[in-house]
Amino acid sequence: MYHQSTKTLSTQTSSPLLTVSVAPAKVVRGSDILTQASDAISQLGNRPLIIGGERTLAVTQESVQEFLKQQRLHVAQACYTPDCSEASLKALHKAAKEHKADVIIGVGGGKALDTAKLVGYKLQLPVVTIPTSASTCAAWTALSNVYSDEGAFLYDVGLAKCPDLLILDYELVKTAPQRTLIAGIGDAIAKWYEASVSSGHSEQTLIIAAVQQARVLRDILFQKSAAALKEPGSEAWQQVVDATVLLAGVIGGLGGAQCRTVAAHAVHNGLTHICESGSIHGEKVAYGILVQLRLEEIIQGNQLAAAARQQLLKFYAEIGLPQKLSDLGLGNITLNELQKAAEVALHPNSDIHRLPFKVALEQLMAAMVSTTAPVEGRSHTGLTSTVNQDG
Ligand SMILES: [Zn+2]
Repeated sequence: MYHQSTKTLSTQTSSPLLTVSVAPAKVVRGSDILTQASDAISQLGNRPLIIGGERTLAVTQESVQEFLKQQRLHVAQACYTPDCSEASLKALHKAAKEHKADVIIGVGGGKALDTAKLVGYKLQLPVVTIPTSASTCAAWTALSNVYSDEGAFLYDVGLAKCPDLLILDYELVKTAPQRTLIAGIGDAIAKWYEASVSSGHSEQTLIIAAVQQARVLRDILFQKSAAALKEPGSEAWQQVVDATVLLAGVIGGLGGAQCRTVAAHAVHNGLTHICESGSIHGEKVAYGILVQLRLEEIIQGNQLAAAARQQLLKFYAEIGLPQKLSDLGLGNITLNELQKAAEVALHPNSDIHRLPFKVALEQLMAAMVSTTAPVEGRSHTGLTSTVNQDG
């Protein structure tokens, strides 16, 4: 007996070490809570470097920074412009060293938070995220996207852990343009359409849980988004903000590297290489979901995907998410540009290859220009709100 269990133990220790970073160590949320949150910040350090965009830093000058200074914290700030790129990261690394920063605070949207998380990770400093919009779940996750200075997606970096502190102040988020929340809804519903394809058949407990949470997240957003957008600050609005910033993060945390993105984000990544349209992450991802469903229709003849696409088109029309390239400001792109975006999306390392079938360049280009095509053939009565990828 003893001998056998020792053997089991030694087999276990030789298997790869799987780390899960489910959540930030601490999440504080409420309205006008920045003032109360300074205690939690000062427990992490007293020389914070605040990283944000130029506009955000100007807007939060009084609310965030003045307050931190009153708390006898030695604050410095730095911009992540032009993007969460290698050049910015290098400059911020230097700024953090010069300030002798002992905690990094990211303030802003996804890119500002991704930059702050990455600077903190590289310098092994604690990280605080303060989202100023509900446009992504970047405030929560242990992942950063790196872009070129021009904003083209290059690669993502898995971080050792989720942020040490997430401060979700609804008053602050309420000041963001409505469009950012709409984009956040698009990015969050993608979790279901992508996770159910990449991990829907997993036997692993935590992955099953992540995929199911993605379905719950989608349903909450289907039910509450329209009401939320009609009345910012309302109960429904707050629940939708929690869904896009927090629950979307839980799914990434539980599912980890195995519960990854599929075609929707791959299409987003492709579009960043041609996009000067000014559309934001979640808008491109939302369009990418339609492309993914269209691929399942075209290549697999999947009628559930066709019905799901029709359901999404209705939902997008209701809340203002883009349905086609022209809605992203790309109505005039050339065939060459379309091909370039599709080629990037089909790069050998792309998550698009998690689809259970091969995608040819021509098929992807066809899907990209036909996201609003009517469903061919019979009507699909009976396939209503619970459709998913493969039943
Ligand atoms: Zn995303």
